[in-house]
Amino acid sequence: MASTKANPARIVLFGPPGAGKGTQATLLSKALNVCHISTGDIMRQAVANQTELGKQIKAILDRGELVPDSMVIKMVEERLSDPDCADGFVLDGFPRTVDQAKALSALIAKLGGPNLMVIELIVPDERILERIRRRSAEAGNSARSDDSEDVARNRIMVYWAQTAPVSDYYRARKELKDIDGVGKVEDVNARLIALVKGRPVA
Ligand code: AMP
Repeated sequence: MASTKANPARIVLFGPPGAGKGTQATLLSKALNVCHISTGDIMRQAVANQTELGKQIKAILDRGELVPDSMVIKMVEERLSDPDCADGFVLDGFPRTVDQAKALSALIAKLGGPNLMVIELIVPDERILERIRRRSAEAGNSARSDDSEDVARNRIMVYWAQTAPVSDYYRARKELKDIDGVGKVEDVNARLIALVKGRPVA
């Protein structure tokens, strides 16, 4: 869908599981008044609704592995064409492989207009495990069946093997910016908004 804004915000929030992408993407998309696309949320919804797609991917999600690229890319392409995404988007949890990143670059080129701004939330490994453990304790494992300790470790391994190379892809294209993801939610959010709006980052 063609944009009505001269300079739509096209943002990817990137980082390991437990880095706070979901929370920050929700806040940032509201602040910028653009759509929030969380591939994890879309997939959990499909599983909860027991759609055909949901039935195919449930076991993959439960193991903390990645859903095949072709399925995820199609899902994002469809969501990006929704009217609420015409003036920009914040993507959270996508791309997670270099092939997904390449597909997204092709989609953006097709749409025309500004390039992506990819922001990596930098959070040390030990903090991530701590956060995922806290999340699974709080959720009592009911909200996310993929938050048990073993699955959390698996998700981090999958991240290092398949997703971390995505940051090199964007670094080479000069589309990547880093941000310190440690700190209070509101402080990280303020840093993000300053970065996106081009102000000096505190
Ligand atoms: P998230 O909520 O982003 O951590 O995603 C939860 C789960 O959904 C992941 O562990 C994967 O199984 C699946 N998933 C989400 N996004 C993607 C993606 N871009 N590519 C493949 N699998 C994904």
